[in-house]
Amino acid sequence: MIGSFVPAYYSIALPVVLRTLFDYLPPEGHGPIAVGARVQVPFGRGNGRILVGVVCQRHQTQELPAKLKRIDKVLDDEPLLDADFISLCQWASHYYQHPIGETIATCLPKKLRLGAQASITYPKHWQLTVQGKGLPDDGLKRAPKQQLALQQLRARGTIADDQLAEHGLGRDSLRNLAQKGLAELTDTPPNAGQPQAKPAPHPLTDEQAAVVSQIAYGAFSVAVLEGATGSGKTEVYLQAIAQVLARGQQAMVLIPEISLGPQTLARFHQRFKANIVALHSGLNDTERAQHWLRARAGDADIVIGTRSAVFTPLPRLGLIVIDEEHDLSFKQQDGLRYSARDLAIVRAQKADVPVILGSATPSLETLSNINHGRFTHWQLHARPGGASHADIELFDIKQESLIDGFSEHALTEIAKTVGAGQQALVFVNRRGFAPTVLCHDCGWQAQCKHCDSNLTAHNHPAHLRCHHCDYQRPPLSQCPECFGQNLLYLGAATEKAEQMLSEHFPRSKVIRIDRDTTGRKNAFDQLLEQVHTGEPCILVGTQMLAKGHHFPNVTLVVVLNADNGLFGADFRASERTGQLLLQVAGRAGRGDHPGRVLIQTHHPDHPLFTQLFSHGYRAFADLLMEERMRSSMPPFSYMAIIKVEASFPQPATALLEGLKNALQHAFAPNPHNQYLGPMPAIMERVNKRFRYVLQLKCSQRKLLHQVLPVAVHYLSSAKVPKDLRWSLDVDPQET
Ligand code: ADP
Ligand code: ZN
Ligand code: ZN
Repeated sequence: MIGSFVPAYYSIALPVVLRTLFDYLPPEGHGPIAVGARVQVPFGRGNGRILVGVVCQRHQTQELPAKLKRIDKVLDDEPLLDADFISLCQWASHYYQHPIGETIATCLPKKLRLGAQASITYPKHWQLTVQGKGLPDDGLKRAPKQQLALQQLRARGTIADDQLAEHGLGRDSLRNLAQKGLAELTDTPPNAGQPQAKPAPHPLTDEQAAVVSQIAYGAFSVAVLEGATGSGKTEVYLQAIAQVLARGQQAMVLIPEISLGPQTLARFHQRFKANIVALHSGLNDTERAQHWLRARAGDADIVIGTRSAVFTPLPRLGLIVIDEEHDLSFKQQDGLRYSARDLAIVRAQKADVPVILGSATPSLETLSNINHGRFTHWQLHARPGGASHADIELFDIKQESLIDGFSEHALTEIAKTVGAGQQALVFVNRRGFAPTVLCHDCGWQAQCKHCDSNLTAHNHPAHLRCHHCDYQRPPLSQCPECFGQNLLYLGAATEKAEQMLSEHFPRSKVIRIDRDTTGRKNAFDQLLEQVHTGEPCILVGTQMLAKGHHFPNVTLVVVLNADNGLFGADFRASERTGQLLLQVAGRAGRGDHPGRVLIQTHHPDHPLFTQLFSHGYRAFADLLMEERMRSSMPPFSYMAIIKVEASFPQPATALLEGLKNALQHAFAPNPHNQYLGPMPAIMERVNKRFRYVLQLKCSQRKLLHQVLPVAVHYLSSAKVPKDLRWSLDVDPQET
């Protein structure tokens, strides 16, 4: 038939707050455009803005709608996003009630979101020349570093120039090889060949093997792997991944930002001869886009990344691993407020592949899914490495005289530890010198001008700082109210602990690890290197110290004050505190020495503590679970929070009042839906803005998802002042 050409128009997702797709005609004379391709379009009044969007639907019709604008430019001949990816975005957009265009934009690396060309340029990598390949393995005996590089290159085929450190190689040795004509640096596509796993160093225990065999079926299932640090979880991941690679599939590993260091990557590189692509905050925008494109091209065997890596397209996805599944960093706290863990499970379900959730301290949500039979549960009991569990002491500091927060007992234990040539770790959950500055004469307290929050005193360099809005002011020499000289610096924080310990133990090295000492690039790794020399020292730090790092020579952990978290305002405060305390305690005694943990508290008999430390995490979690059931809080209900912030309180509370009324109107009163508030956020004023919340709680997920679209519709169409912002957080992790 002649003239079978049917005209078409296209529905496009654009990164704007409007909750809809936008229809456009193709450029004049342009052939069909693929769904999933990016296009550039004029947008808004007078077509003043040029936006990059993604084609989501093609409509073929003889009757084109009138007055459609035309697409300016088609950016991709092939679809950049496949149907699976778009369907995951649609799911997320619906579940989190976030505009589809913004959702897709969030899922794309920035460069691609802004319209950069989707072509892969391979990173520079080293390989052997013909001459180098001809050399015997011990051909460079007199240059041991070059010989190591030669052997590594032979074993792996190629090594990326930016991954030399992960393979224990220095750039100089490779340059020297190149000068001798033995190696070369190229940017042709690396040909690592079929991915391979080295044989595992030890046979799996029965418990470990059980999880790996569940993965062997290849179908969707969620296996929770519960085990303390050092119990062999990573070994399970590695062997499960080996199976997946052997099937010609790709694996995705999600881990908290803080654990994604060279140590972790090195362990994967040592086990696999495979293309391993890391996605973390250290990458620049170009690298990030390149890694994403390589994964999409099927050219990455293993993707290891933080939260946002869950959106990496993997055409042959075979397994998703989420390490530390309970970790708060998997939840995005602004924009599209997604949980990478939950999205990963949805993604695995759509792709029909297995998921492993690893944790020493599974979240209550995950435990509840186990209880309901939705997830299988595997416990790793023994520590295969052999080190024994730490012995934990709850030390009652009621009426003890404390020196800058330290009891006499704690100081004695630290002295014994460093005296024996071992390392001690002191955990303080605040950075800075003192969280409270108080005038002893008149009671004045240093507070932030812009927030309902105290200023924290810092000594390096000396200043006062708000930890919420970053307001800073010079240090005080006297009280600004009464000009008194008696300023008190109260409360425990890392700098004060560091100073106190340096004075008390003048001959010991004290190493402070917190956000202030690790801000510079590589600073964290350099500090860790010092610790890894194994020399006796005292480590002082915040939660940065709690996660994922191996400190084989630490035999004593002191928790300066365990009480703060237990009584926090958030309903998850005790859960998080328990998880953190166990994680900190897990730092002790990982090497050949047994560990000791000393926890200072005013409440040694608090049932949560006794459950946690005498009966373990499960008993602790059971107790919390009962509490949540009694108060019908998640996981016994489903929650969403609507937050409104504005320069003045009234418009914010009025909007939420109006919303609450509208919801009460739209849904007949029933005990299954609760609307709590409006109430001030835990901190009402931050950075000169007032913040209020309305909490929606439903007994079933389905009910919540009936309420949400109505709420969003109300909020989007309400008339509000320009400076007012509202946001919706489904399954909030912080209330
Ligand atoms: P996790 O990830 O739970 O912290 P790892 O997998 O890192 O634990 O294991 C801790 C240590 O125990 C590692 O040194 C690892 O090589 C070793 N290990 C793991 N599984 C076994 C096993 N089945 N037999 C002997 N050693 C093991
Ligand atoms: Zn005063
Ligand atoms: Zn502030």
